[in-house]
Amino acid sequence: MAQAEFDLIRRYFAVHKPQHRFTQLGIGDDCALLHLPADYQLAVTADTMVENVHFFADVEPELLGHKLLAVNLSDLAAMGAEPFAVTLALTLPKIDHPWLQAFSQGFIKLAQQYHVDLIGGDTTSGPLTLTVQAMGAVPKGKALLRSNAKVGDLIYVTGQLGDAGLGLKIKQGYVCDNPEPALARFNQPQPCVVQGLALRDVAHACIDISDGLAADLGHILEKSGVGASLDWDKLPLSAEVQRYIQQTGDWQLPLVAGDDYQLCFTAAAQSQLPDGCYCVGVIEAEAGLRIQRGGQPQTLEVAGFEHFS
Ligand code: ADP
Ligand code: MG
Repeated sequence: MAQAEFDLIRRYFAVHKPQHRFTQLGIGDDCALLHLPADYQLAVTADTMVENVHFFADVEPELLGHKLLAVNLSDLAAMGAEPFAVTLALTLPKIDHPWLQAFSQGFIKLAQQYHVDLIGGDTTSGPLTLTVQAMGAVPKGKALLRSNAKVGDLIYVTGQLGDAGLGLKIKQGYVCDNPEPALARFNQPQPCVVQGLALRDVAHACIDISDGLAADLGHILEKSGVGASLDWDKLPLSAEVQRYIQQTGDWQLPLVAGDDYQLCFTAAAQSQLPDGCYCVGVIEAEAGLRIQRGGQPQTLEVAGFEHFS
């Protein structure tokens, strides 16, 4: 590896020393070393973001650093795992110090907020591509799977839907009186780590909403071999999303727009839930997803985002 790359790693990443009790060795050797207590399982996930596919070329690097880590922490949250370590693979077209300074700041700030160590990675030259692998710990048998929804469970989401989708519409030219909250949701999603941990002993099935509620709930239904009814009128919507729907008629936005990173989970009726959860439907034996709006059955015309379609 070239001296410039060593300097880059030292300057922006290795300065942040590992803190977590599960990290024995961080950046600097051929591998990091982790040590989990015997009654825990390791939850592992990875997500890649490619310029012009997952983010606009002109995005602020600090927001990009935040979002890259947030989407990975969101996957761990959806399993009920406590995040503790990540690796970062960077493919960069050139060494741009102001960019790296801002990017690493956005990344490290979120990592520190959740006591997550950056324990290693890789640095290569090529078209801008960012990959994080994230590791979390979950007590044995407590992980929240997509496959565990039961007939009669209620379906919940952890917060408002459609704000990130509205943020994207605003970037594409939609004029909104109060654009900041939707733009912040799009640019700087907050992973539901705390909610995921609180749901360990409550939720039956869980997923994070990256591709829209309809598509992501669809994964729970498929893996659990069940169906569901959703009540559109119960969806938690911000005032801005409500106004957008009134103006455009696009009622599907909160069901099909991605990037909100709320959790969708199912739980037995009368479960003790964390604050801020909204019941939006019920799990049923009949396969498929049925949507009611204003008492009328509805059909979705748009599917979630798919990469190879
Ligand atoms: P190797 O050639 O043995 O794979 P490298 O020379 O690529 O190791 O990396 C040296 C050290 O720096 C390793 O501990 C590696 O995990 C770490 N590292 C490399 N790139 C990054 C990065 N972008 N972020 C964090 N750590 C990194
Ligand atoms: Mg090596």
